[in-house]
Amino acid sequence: MGNVPTTVKHCLSYEQLIQDYPWLRRWLLEEKTTTELEYPEFVKVVEVGPRDGLQNEKEIVPTEMKIQLIDMLSQTGLSVIEATSFVSSKWVPQMADHSDVLRGIKRAQHVQYPVLTPNIQGFQAAVEAGATEVAVFGSASETFSKKNINCSIDDSMLRFQEVVSAAKERHIPVRGYVSCALGCPHEGHMEPAKVAEVAKRLYDMGCCEISLGDTIGVGTPGTMCQMLQTVMKEVPTKALAVHCHDTYGQALPNILTALQMGVCVVDSAVAGLGGCPYAQGSSGNVSTEDVLYMLHGMGIKTGVNLSKVTEVGDFICSTLNRKTNSKVAQARGGTL
Ligand SMILES: [Zn+2]
Repeated sequence: MGNVPTTVKHCLSYEQLIQDYPWLRRWLLEEKTTTELEYPEFVKVVEVGPRDGLQNEKEIVPTEMKIQLIDMLSQTGLSVIEATSFVSSKWVPQMADHSDVLRGIKRAQHVQYPVLTPNIQGFQAAVEAGATEVAVFGSASETFSKKNINCSIDDSMLRFQEVVSAAKERHIPVRGYVSCALGCPHEGHMEPAKVAEVAKRLYDMGCCEISLGDTIGVGTPGTMCQMLQTVMKEVPTKALAVHCHDTYGQALPNILTALQMGVCVVDSAVAGLGGCPYAQGSSGNVSTEDVLYMLHGMGIKTGVNLSKVTEVGDFICSTLNRKTNSKVAQARGGTL
């Protein structure tokens, strides 16, 4: 093995190899050990519990509970808390109180409260309610797009373009989601090239951050690596985030893989709230508590207080009368 790196380095295609497979770089550096892998010093954790986590709850969660959840999260050190979705209440009744939630929260300094705005009507309502950051939700899967947001990928891009243009005029940053980045409940395997194409369209349109979502949690470090390699050829790494669900228990290793490849923005939900109604056995988002435990254990700074997040997890689990999906919270004796 000792001679392999030198041999490879002298190969004419070494530079191309590194370009095609960025993760190979670390293996090819001689005398590197696993403890010397490069990770970001700081990771921005984007809390999606109040929106992504709650939107599929069957029982309507009272508005004041949602506000309390966000207000408690605002005291944990999180810098981004996705607050709600300005989607039609016909489609997502759970988010019908979006304006009241956004108006009702106590905004903390240095915390952003993005909201989902699927179209220009949603965007205008969000701005009226005080939104200062928004997100659009696209999909790498044509079938998922049609079933989830009721239009083709091309049509969704036209809608998003309207939102992004209106947001630019008001200097409102827009985040772009790409769902089904590692698999689709209808189409199965997703080609990384398709994910890259949608990510690039959103980025070129003006989305400042692209969150790549393993919506149904079927990815592994292998598929995550392949997908990111392809997307990173089209969108700068610094503009990428990963959004993992833990259906097959792969969320943390998938996130770790993304970190090794230079991604430093991670989505998560307190108590691992959420789930995809279209995917059988789909469990929730990776829990914020578990992500923080891993990151802090690796010496990566987040600015977020794990104990406080665990308390918020206890609160929302007792409110919803359910068991936490966070292994860390379970180990620490949270709501069972
Ligand atoms: Zn999610």
